[in-house]
Amino acid sequence: ERLNLSQLIRDCIDLYRYVAEDKSIEIVFADEHDHFITADPMRLRQVLANLLDNAVKYTPAGGTVSLNVRSVDKGVQIRVQDTGIGIEEQDLSLVFDRLYRADSSRSEAGMGLGLSMVKAVVKAHQGTISLESTIGQGSCFRVELPEQQDI
Ligand code: ATP
Ligand code: MG
Repeated sequence: ERLNLSQLIRDCIDLYRYVAEDKSIEIVFADEHDHFITADPMRLRQVLANLLDNAVKYTPAGGTVSLNVRSVDKGVQIRVQDTGIGIEEQDLSLVFDRLYRADSSRSEAGMGLGLSMVKAVVKAHQGTISLESTIGQGSCFRVELPEQQDI
């Protein structure tokens, strides 16, 4: 299904508006023009909602969550960046595993399911997900999705 990815992101941000406001976290998304993609709208919404949920959950009060979409070779790249607690180097490859939670995040509620689902959906769309993070400074998740998938 052809969908407006930028609008879908704005809808997801609306879902987290009040949680973010409670923590004085600013969510920033400025798209100079809307981006469109062929994808499963419900699945893609789950991906964005989970990345946003994590970004807001693992960012201390007063922080910022920035989202960004840009066109790349044959598709789009979505970036979800936060100024949160960050992820230890040794955990970077493990956080996508089912039920894995880093020690540093145990004070927040969660099952460790979100990112494994995110990865599965991205894979089903023939996309890729990557992660950069610095402990105490923040994390950046990058999702790349091809313009069109053979599903
Ligand atoms: P659930 O998503 O099931 O509610 P969860 O958020 O703990 O629980 P995941 O979303 O799968 O599980 O994330 C796995 C782990 O990766 C988290 O427990 C946390 O340790 C780490 N993590 C994920 N996103 C971030 C982030 N933005 N900043 C810091 N750590 C993160
Ligand atoms: Mg989560």
